[in-house]
Parts: sequence; structure tokens; C-alpha cells
Amino acid sequence: MRPKILEQLFKPIETTRGIGPRLKIRLKYLIGENIVDLLWHLPNNIIDRSYNPTISKAEKDRIVTIKATVLKHFPSKRRGLPYKVTVIDETGEIDLVWFNGRKQYLQDLLPIGETLVVSGKLEFYKKKKQIIHPQHIVSDEKSHNLPNIEAVYGLTQGLTNKVISNHIKRAVDIVPDFSEWQDKEFFKKMNWPSFLESIKTVHNPKHEDDLDHKNTSKQRLAYDELLANQLSLGLLAKNFEAPTGQSMSKNIKLMDSLYKNIPFELTNSQKVAIEEISQDLEKPSRMIRLLQGDVGSGKTIVALAAIFQVSGNNKQSAMMAPTELLARQHYESLKDLCFKSNINIEILTGKTKRLERERILDDLKNGKISIILGTHALFQEKVLFNNLGLVIIDEQHRFGVHQRLSLTSKNSLDPPDIVIMSATPIPRTLELTAYGSMQVSRLLDKPMGRKPIKTIAKPLSKVNEAMLSLERLINKGEKAYWVCPLIEESEKIDLAAAVDRYNSLKIIYKDRVALVHGKMSVEEREETMKDFKYGNKSILVATTVIEVGIDVPDATFIIIEHSERFGLSQLHQLRGRVGRSDKPSSCLLLYKSPLGENAKKRIETLRQTDDGFVIAEEDLMLRGAGEVLGTRQSGLPYFKIANLSTDRELLEVARNDANYIIESNILNKTDRGENLKILLHLFNKEDALKYLDAG
Ligand code: ADP
Ligand code: MG
Repeated sequence: MRPKILEQLFKPIETTRGIGPRLKIRLKYLIGENIVDLLWHLPNNIIDRSYNPTISKAEKDRIVTIKATVLKHFPSKRRGLPYKVTVIDETGEIDLVWFNGRKQYLQDLLPIGETLVVSGKLEFYKKKKQIIHPQHIVSDEKSHNLPNIEAVYGLTQGLTNKVISNHIKRAVDIVPDFSEWQDKEFFKKMNWPSFLESIKTVHNPKHEDDLDHKNTSKQRLAYDELLANQLSLGLLAKNFEAPTGQSMSKNIKLMDSLYKNIPFELTNSQKVAIEEISQDLEKPSRMIRLLQGDVGSGKTIVALAAIFQVSGNNKQSAMMAPTELLARQHYESLKDLCFKSNINIEILTGKTKRLERERILDDLKNGKISIILGTHALFQEKVLFNNLGLVIIDEQHRFGVHQRLSLTSKNSLDPPDIVIMSATPIPRTLELTAYGSMQVSRLLDKPMGRKPIKTIAKPLSKVNEAMLSLERLINKGEKAYWVCPLIEESEKIDLAAAVDRYNSLKIIYKDRVALVHGKMSVEEREETMKDFKYGNKSILVATTVIEVGIDVPDATFIIIEHSERFGLSQLHQLRGRVGRSDKPSSCLLLYKSPLGENAKKRIETLRQTDDGFVIAEEDLMLRGAGEVLGTRQSGLPYFKIANLSTDRELLEVARNDANYIIESNILNKTDRGENLKILLHLFNKEDALKYLDAG
């Protein structure tokens, strides 16, 4: 239950005054669901309104705040022409200008003869001074309400700074003065302001310096956020520290029968990872291990080795994939190896027919099945195992680990070991924030024989060259992906762009082009992907990042349209769909010029390196400089205030603090504990509190 003190802040964002349906959609997109989310939207700039010259002295291109009297209205003569209001002081006159201004509204706002204070940017038009769309107009008596320094917020289309400022101000006004949740000594040492003070300060910057990330109020809030993150991960980890797990030793004969049949040489890091997991399985304590490796690094076979070891102990394994298609792909790639060693493997998905399903459920219960593959739905249903020894979660960088783990925590008497496979090569810093202190195995080298992917960047105007390259390649019998622009705001526009591209390619390639997009049903999508993988389709046009884990070795070319809109890690993931065989592959990044600084850096990095870890670090640095489209979907932890490229030290402190809090059982026993619970709620980490009762 959410503490009463937070009730107001956690009301839906639209419940504040003056938010209609259209504004609601925009705010939800930009800010989030609840009023509290307004607090985390920090200003990124300031406007200084303290310059208040007389009209004759006012300088061009500056933000001016002028006291003047309304002289005359000049309503627009027809649509498209501006509405002008001339105002004067004793030194001269100036026009206030509106495009599409509503007459009644402006007449009420600016009665003739009234003296007002007006603020906006001073410009010249045909030698006359004017202010277009003044940001503030207040009566003289109320001019003390006009801020000298105004915070400037990140906006989205259709939202003005004034509107967002007002809503944020109201949110700030209802923040209670919470009892301090930080450690008293530490808090004193850091000399930080209280939460309430900090929130007020960050939303009322007085000076450029106040925008700096090292500002004490910002640091305090960043620390709050990091502590909430580390506390929730710590609680989760604690919950998994089962006193005993299962001990599953190696059955050499069975393992050999697997290795004998693998059609390739294992890479060094595959061997190391297999051994690390093997030792963990053998230990009586419970394993929770992250298996991290770039797309195509060969995680699946590592998982299979673990499964074999578990099977050698007559225990069952379950492997969860994020989509049905990926579950099926695992099934296809593993079934022969299993079959040859007499290991019973099955797949259970939403598409499994009822009779078949019942048989599988029975066989899981009586232990006939050794390995079950499926989506996470597998675990939400009442699936009963005979003897579950291992759970493998193929995360493909989509899920919060949190949710996945909680699914496996139910059976706590004899808890299975867990391996989480992640294709996101996250930097160490993020590792800590995403996985806490979990053990990690990394696949660093790529399978032998893989050729580096040639990466080229060209402006969109060269799309015809892309067409030519495509044609050459298709004639050789190879396959290609064509990824269409990512527009987070609107799936509709997304789709339209992809459909256009699909239609234009269809003119040339007829039925050899296929299209997948998010609006298709899972079945349709799966069918299409299958056609691309096994059938006669040569080109797959796709909206955004669908099926990252898909493995089509014949695909050797990927074109990414509007690549400037993708995040670095995303581009890297997309590129990883090609280069999956011994044939040379290439990646063409089409971009809209001119490229912004950040986008230029992303594309440059991508051309220079194929090392997922380097790319991940770089991504983090760049992301610090501005939110990249799509990062929220990446599954990586998303911080609202903390900046992981500059707050690494704070993160370390937060981790130690969180460990101390958990080890000393502070949450259960003390006043500070009660206050910390509020902190967890504030940052939406209250889920972790359910592990408290268990401990
Ligand atoms: P990912 O880590 O992305 O899940 P997969 O396990 O799907 O990678 O492996 C990608 C492809 O590489 C598969 O076709 C797999 O059979 C193959 N593969 C895996 N390990 C090796 C290896 N050591 N040598 C050659 N090919 C390999
Ligand atoms: Mg995989």
C-alpha cells in the first residue's frame, strides 16, 4: 500500500487542473503517468528576464521585459496575416504580434489604455520593433509575479514552456516535507539540502551553475534515485539467497555425447562460460548468473551445456524466450542435439493445441520432459514440474530482470538455479544498476570465421545507390533487411513509412519482399519471419526493432533508414542481424543531413568498432548528453535524474549504503526504515518491498 503522504503526488497526471485529453497524451509521452513524474522533469536551460529597458533603448535579439501601455489593436485582415497590438511608453512604440491570435482573447488580455508588463524576444520588422508571441503579459500590479529568471524545460510538439512550467510548479507545491531518509551522519557530511528544498531548487534555477549536474540539490536527488535502485536490487538479491539450492554434478558421458555432435568448435569464452556455470551448478548453493554476450556470440549452446548437466542429474530445465518466434528458433536449433543424446525437449507456447498442451503439461509433471521451451507465459500459468533444476531466461535485452526473477521465486522450497542470457553488452556501471551484484559470465569473442561487417553511412538522398547495392546482392541469392524509421511518438507514422518502402520495393521485387511491423498479429509476424528465414522472401522490410534475436545466416545486408533516430546500442543490435555466416556482410546507415553532433558521433562510433562493450560505454556517455529515442524501450535501467556517466562514485556509495541498510535490517526496524520506504515508493521501486516480509 502506498503511504498516505504520497497520495496527492501519485494521482494521475491528468487530474491536475487544466489538462485536457490532448495535453494529457502529450504529457504522458513526455513526462509519465503521475503527477510525481512532473518533479523529475528538470529544466535544461534558463531565460533571464531581468533586462528591462525603455522601448527606445531595447536592443535587438534580447529577451526584454518592458512596461508599456496599450495604444491600438490591429486585428488580422484575413487568415494567415498577423494580429498586431501596438503598445507605447514615453520613449517609443512597439508591436506585439500573434499569428492565429484569437481576437476576443487578445482584446480581453490587452484592453486599450491599460499599462502592462510584457516579456519576450525583441526583433525588428521593417525597421519597427516587435515581439512575436510574447511569453508573458501581466498587469502592472502583478508584475512582481514575473520571474526574473525562468526555467526552460524540454518540450514536445504542442506543449509550451509556460504550460509545462505551470504544471510542474503545481506539482512542486504539493511535495510534502518528508522526514529525512538518508543516513544522518552521511547527510551532514555531504551538506545536502532536504528533498523538498532540493526539488524546489532544481526547478527554480537562479544561475547557469544551478543547471549543472554537480549542483548539490541535483546530487542529492540523483543519490536518492540511485539509492532506491540499489535498495530494490539488494532486496531482490537477498530474496534469492536461498540457504540451500540444488547440487548437480557433471555426467561426463552425457556431456561428451553433446560435444561430439556440436557441428563447430566452441570459442574460448564459450568454454570458460560453460565451465563457470558448470561449477555453480555443482555447488549446493543457488546460482543466479548473468550470461552476457553480443548478438551472435553463441549463448544458446552455452545454455544447452548447462541443460545437459542438469539432465544428467535427472532434473528438468526450462528456458524462456521473449517471443514465441525466438522460443521456436531455440527449439529448432536445439532439438537435433537433444534428440541425438536421448534428451526429451518440448516447446509450449500460446499456439500449442489443447490436446498437445495437456500432454506436455502431464509429461512435465511426471518428469518425462527434460527441457521445456516457451515464452514467459510458461511461468504465469499453472505449470507444474516434477523436478525443476534450472531456469534459463533469454532476455534479449528486453525485460526488466526484476520481473523475470520474481516469476521463478514462487517455488522456494527447492529453488532452481538461474541463468539470465542478455544480448546487451552493458557497461560495468550499468551492470550494477541493472543486476546488482549478480555473477557474470561474458562471451567476448565471436565464433570463428565471422567476417567483420562493413559499415557505411550515406545521406538519405543517396537512397538510389542503396537500391543498386540491394539489387546486386539479391541477384547473388543473398537476403537483406530494410529497417524503416523509428518514430516513438506515433506508431501510425511508423507504419506508413514502412508500407511506402514496402510498396516501392514490391514494384521491383514482387513477392520476394515481405513486411513485418508491430501492428501485425504475432502469428502473421511469425509466419513472415519464417518465410524470410526459410522461404522465398529475399527482403524483409521492418519497422523498429523486431525480433532482435532472430538468426538468418543468409542475410548479408541491412539498410537502416533515418539511422540518426536510433540509439547507438540499438543500431549495434540491428547491425548484428547480419554477419551471421562466413559470407561478408554490410550495413548501410542512411541518415538525414545535416547530422546533429550526437548523431554524428553515434554513426562514427559504429563505423569504427564492432565491440559491443565499447559501444555500450560510448552510448552511455552520449546518452548523458541527451535522451536518445528508443532508450526507454531498450530494457536498460532508465534514470530520471541520476546520470551514470557522471555519477559513478555516487552509485558506489549508494550500493554500500543499500547493503548496509539490508544487512542491518533497517527497513524493518527503524524510523529511517519507514522513511526509506517512502523513497522506494517515490521512485516506483515499491515492488521490492514485498521481499521484505519474506526475509
Ligand atoms: P546469440 O548469442 O545471439 O544467442 P546464438 O546462440 O543464436 O547467438 O548463435 C548464433 C549462431 O552462431 C548460431 O547459428 C549458432 O549455431 C552459431 N554458433 C554458436 N557458437 C558457434 C561457434 N563456436 N562456432 C561457429 N558457430 C557458432
Ligand atoms: Mg540468442
